[in-house]
Amino acid sequence: MAHGFIDQLGKMLDKSSVLAGADIDERYHRDLAGKAVAKPLAVVRPRTTEQVSDVLRLCHHEKVPLTTQGGMTGLVRGAMPNANEIVLSMERMNAVEEVDASASVAIAQAGAPLDRIQERVEREGYIFPLDLGARGSCTIGGNISTNAGGNRVIRYGMTRDLILGLEVVTADGTVLHGLRKYLKNNTGIDLKHLFIGSEGVLGVVTRAVLRIVPAPTEQQVMLCAMDSFAKVSALLGMARQRLGGELTAFEAMWNEYYRLTVERVNGVVSPLPTHHPFYVLLEASGNKAARIHVDLEELLEAAIGKSMIIDATVSNSKASAAAMWRIRDSTLELSRSFPYGSRIGFDVSLPICRMDEYAKMVRTRIKAIDVQAFAIVFGHAADGNLHLEVHHEHTPDRREDFEKLVYQITGEFGGMISAEHGIGVLKRPYLKISRTQEEIETMRTLKRALDPNNILNPGRIFTL
Ligand code: ZN
Repeated sequence: MAHGFIDQLGKMLDKSSVLAGADIDERYHRDLAGKAVAKPLAVVRPRTTEQVSDVLRLCHHEKVPLTTQGGMTGLVRGAMPNANEIVLSMERMNAVEEVDASASVAIAQAGAPLDRIQERVEREGYIFPLDLGARGSCTIGGNISTNAGGNRVIRYGMTRDLILGLEVVTADGTVLHGLRKYLKNNTGIDLKHLFIGSEGVLGVVTRAVLRIVPAPTEQQVMLCAMDSFAKVSALLGMARQRLGGELTAFEAMWNEYYRLTVERVNGVVSPLPTHHPFYVLLEASGNKAARIHVDLEELLEAAIGKSMIIDATVSNSKASAAAMWRIRDSTLELSRSFPYGSRIGFDVSLPICRMDEYAKMVRTRIKAIDVQAFAIVFGHAADGNLHLEVHHEHTPDRREDFEKLVYQITGEFGGMISAEHGIGVLKRPYLKISRTQEEIETMRTLKRALDPNNILNPGRIFTL
């Protein structure tokens, strides 16, 4: 079957669009450790929505499963193919097709890298507010299918809040033409939301209408050190009240994250001593430079007056703001400075009032498995989202025990086992901690209705 099927694909698209055998580059099947794993049957690289539709129609008919790939920056093994699957790579559908200032939207193809979209709209005086560390390699299609969050969710929301319309191909090749530019559209069930955040199991996103906003002309960053998490939380309340819509980021870093990033990541320079228990990076932006300066100065004075802050520094140039962001944006480099096989990343949602208690609980209970294990904690505190990396270099074979323990604690706190990265394959066994049986069954009902032959990213999120 495989050979005839690949020949059919080759006839449907031009020759360079279908790769098989030795022509399949490792990057299509490289795992998180950077090693090649199971090679897919073929890699298909369509140039148009019609070609995506043709490929899906054939796969549906022949019952051949496929994995859709964007920038391969995911962390839950969602885009890694299995040996019986083909890869549908969106890399050739990478254009930013339109920037429509009057409607405040841009239209991009799914394979467009996030930073290309950002740069394109910036040339017109706008920003596309979605922003995350992987901006140079992740694609908007991947951002949509995982409902990416990132650094400015507090001000602009998740990817879901930034999408006005989608063009999607469903499993049998049907094209849903939903590229509408309206903020208001109450014409029945809003189908786009089925495909945002559903990790490619219900359809393949091919193009999207994105919300853009006028670029703020002024951006200031404040980095502060604090001696308790209660003060981090109090500062957030004060910043929200005083800065309102100017507050565009509020990132918390526990000591280990801050100190180890400064010690281990090349090019990171700390403007503050590295021994304080907590650090906060706060960003304010807007169009009135003088007002932002005054608002931040007043916030700082009030926070010092209430003894919330031990030490602080405010950016005085674009370069100094970028240097402070570099500390928070170095998560991947910090992670990679430790061996791959003995670190586990978690991204959980929790009420902010219980974050420190949670971090302490994880720290204490991992010691019962390995007394030398430790956790690095940081995150988008204002969004109720913590990132946590557990390191267990002396007990690399206990990975699953650490995973189970952290997710169990997350459940005890009523948290969500993923705030940003999604479920994919890696977190599938733990989905039931955060979602009810009835909810998971409803997800399966939707899957069976839209993809009866189970060809789209099978086994991601749940099995049928
Ligand atoms: Zn994050």
